[in-house]
Amino acid sequence: MKKIIITLDGYSSCGKSTLAKQMAAHLNYVFIDSGAMYRAITLYFIRHGIDLVNVTAVHEALSRIQLSFVLNEKTGRADMYLNNENVEEEIRGLAVSNQVSQVAALEPVRIFSVAQQQLMGEQKGIVMDGRDIGTAVFPEAELKIFVTASPEVRVERRYQELVAKDPAITKAEIQSNLEMRDHIDSTREFSPLKKAHDALVLDNSSLTRDEQLELALSWAKERIESA
Ligand code: C5P
Repeated sequence: MKKIIITLDGYSSCGKSTLAKQMAAHLNYVFIDSGAMYRAITLYFIRHGIDLVNVTAVHEALSRIQLSFVLNEKTGRADMYLNNENVEEEIRGLAVSNQVSQVAALEPVRIFSVAQQQLMGEQKGIVMDGRDIGTAVFPEAELKIFVTASPEVRVERRYQELVAKDPAITKAEIQSNLEMRDHIDSTREFSPLKKAHDALVLDNSSLTRDEQLELALSWAKERIESA
């Protein structure tokens, strides 16, 4: 059976990673959360106080960053490592979420990340989620999905995800973070978030996880058979 490349793009907190992870498990494909890479880079920039308008400092910082995904035996998930440190927990908090879109908008950061993402897809058999995967990273992907969900559903989902770790967090904070990131992500100069012309739209506002998985897998099987 031929392996294909599957891309999932869309706004923040649409459930892209959850779906991508489930699809990869069903198809026995590799799952890559490209957002985790931008989050890890952002964590490094925050820790080292990198001035985003200083191009030399940005280039120097990137030359000191090594990113890798390492399988976590306990969760069965790949955790994000920054220079051999597991940063999976730390990159999910609001401190990183509030800076990541500014960092991800920088051209050198995109060149650095996209090159690594393209290498990961060389053997195909990959499901990658993000913002520009179907447009800039794998424009030739066999299956592109653009995931959407209503703003209320997205805020509620992110709230449920974060409140266990941070009981003080509010829905208003989450809403303003999502709005800010979506605005920066879709209006930036270098590979902004947009639906690829050949992407299939999956609105999961009123679908259960199982229903959306079933639909996405039916698209994947069709594309794999015709590959
Ligand atoms: O997917 P996630 O919400 O974790 O991504 C965090 C941020 O990383 C996004 O808001 C966006 O600014 C950036 N990103 C990106 N391109 C991608 C994936 C994520 O610019 N392919």
